[in-house]
Amino acid sequence: MEPILNYINGEFLPSTSGRTMETVNPANGQPITTLPRSSADDVELATAAAHEATPSWSATTMEERITWLHRIADALEEEAETIAQLESMDTGKPISLARRVDAARSVSNFRFFADFGKSHTEPTFADHGAVNHVHRSPIGCVGLITPWNLPLYLLTWKVAPALLMGNTIVAKPSELTPMTANHLAKILTSINFPKGVFNLVHGLGPEVGQAIVEHPEIRGISFTGGTATGKIVAATAAPMFKKLSLELGGKNATIVLDDAPLEDVMDGIVRASFTNSGQVCLCGSRVLVDASIYDRFKAMFVEAVNTIRVGDPTLEATVMGSVISKDHQTKVESYIELGRQEGGVVLTGGTAAESPVDDVPSEGAFLRPTVIEGLSYTARTATEEIFGPVVTLHSFNSEQEAIDMANATQYGLAGSVWTADTERGHAFAQRMDTGIVWVNTWLNRDLRTPFGGVKQSGVGREGGTWSLNFFSELTNICVQQP
Ligand code: NDP
Repeated sequence: MEPILNYINGEFLPSTSGRTMETVNPANGQPITTLPRSSADDVELATAAAHEATPSWSATTMEERITWLHRIADALEEEAETIAQLESMDTGKPISLARRVDAARSVSNFRFFADFGKSHTEPTFADHGAVNHVHRSPIGCVGLITPWNLPLYLLTWKVAPALLMGNTIVAKPSELTPMTANHLAKILTSINFPKGVFNLVHGLGPEVGQAIVEHPEIRGISFTGGTATGKIVAATAAPMFKKLSLELGGKNATIVLDDAPLEDVMDGIVRASFTNSGQVCLCGSRVLVDASIYDRFKAMFVEAVNTIRVGDPTLEATVMGSVISKDHQTKVESYIELGRQEGGVVLTGGTAAESPVDDVPSEGAFLRPTVIEGLSYTARTATEEIFGPVVTLHSFNSEQEAIDMANATQYGLAGSVWTADTERGHAFAQRMDTGIVWVNTWLNRDLRTPFGGVKQSGVGREGGTWSLNFFSELTNICVQQP
């Protein structure tokens, strides 16, 4: 495939140093192509381009920007199959998942924010003979930094509202998954999107990501990634008083109450556990089950997990592909071993050596979905983010114990509760220290709702009005008749 280049001021450019690196297909270990290993110099170029484009882009009307968002959505939709193929190749996820989730959601992110912008009105407040008008301005140039698990899905979730509110962009996708961001840049060129408004700099986090966060002309940072990186980003951006949105890691609890109709909810719980090989920040990696139904649940869960078809991501029938890299496979396997050392029993799955996947290249980073029981809910395996196809099972004897267990990690991103009684589920959800709770469903996303975590899962919310708030500055204008 042709090399990936940076996208700066509407042009595809190599890094100023000429350095490159490779992106690899994790399902077969083969290099796909090269990408620039950029530096602060490239970020400087991209920021200068964005800075120059800011006055004209921010002067466009909301209606004009809405039209652009629809044009981008149309062009992405036409290219949906290419997007899905590229995403599957770059991440090792099954093609069916890349079509259904990644390609589809990238389109709907633009459509949603276009429609949301159209319907959005600002409030006015009248009092003491004066009227207060809320006025929004763009922040200016914003930096968008995104991870490898849902590459274009998460990038477009930030790009669409940033553009809608009149900002210009310097973006950095994960160096492990640059393909679809590059394709978005090609699409923008093909529809004559204004130059310099969207800029893409490829490279390593500590080099390019850090330079974006440090750049004084980049006034807002929307970051999605791990908690450890989020701490570095926050420490850099906070003294510069930048607007900062942090969407970080999670160790989400799936709670199965004693009245849960197991036959009906099992599919949803398995999906919450292992979608995208467990590499969704919202996946439920700790399953807490009422002790009175634990044995029945365990038998049904393991049976259902064993039907997940793991293998070649290009095959339509594959449900679970590889994990993101051999390095990540090694990390996940080290947690499986740690789980054993901590007293856990592997019920199904395990390391690649003990539970190999058939008919995949040995260079591929494949693991079977793994279920571990017998661990304390405070064990490292049960509290640290593994971000792979590993789930731990725990039992509880009361609702209070379930709440205590659910809240016993540093994270607070998401969770789900499964019960026949939706009022009970709703009440239970309110006691969880977390940003999102689903009752009898999972990853059911209405893009108008606030998305984000508490504790070490992040700061701030994105989605609907919360995205508009992040990507704009608010001025209250109080007008009194003379
Ligand atoms: P990382 O934190 O390693 O990386 C995220 C992004 O930050 C990448 O583009 C990375 O570049 C970049 N980066 C790394 N170091 C720096 C730095 N010093 N300054 C600025 N940017 C930097 O996360 P992963 O890519 O490994 O993604 C997995 C993590 O993301 C998990 O913890 C997961 O829970 C979380 N996540 C959270 C979501 C949420 O909405 N809360 C959604 C999806 C994932 P590079 O790749 O080159 O290192």
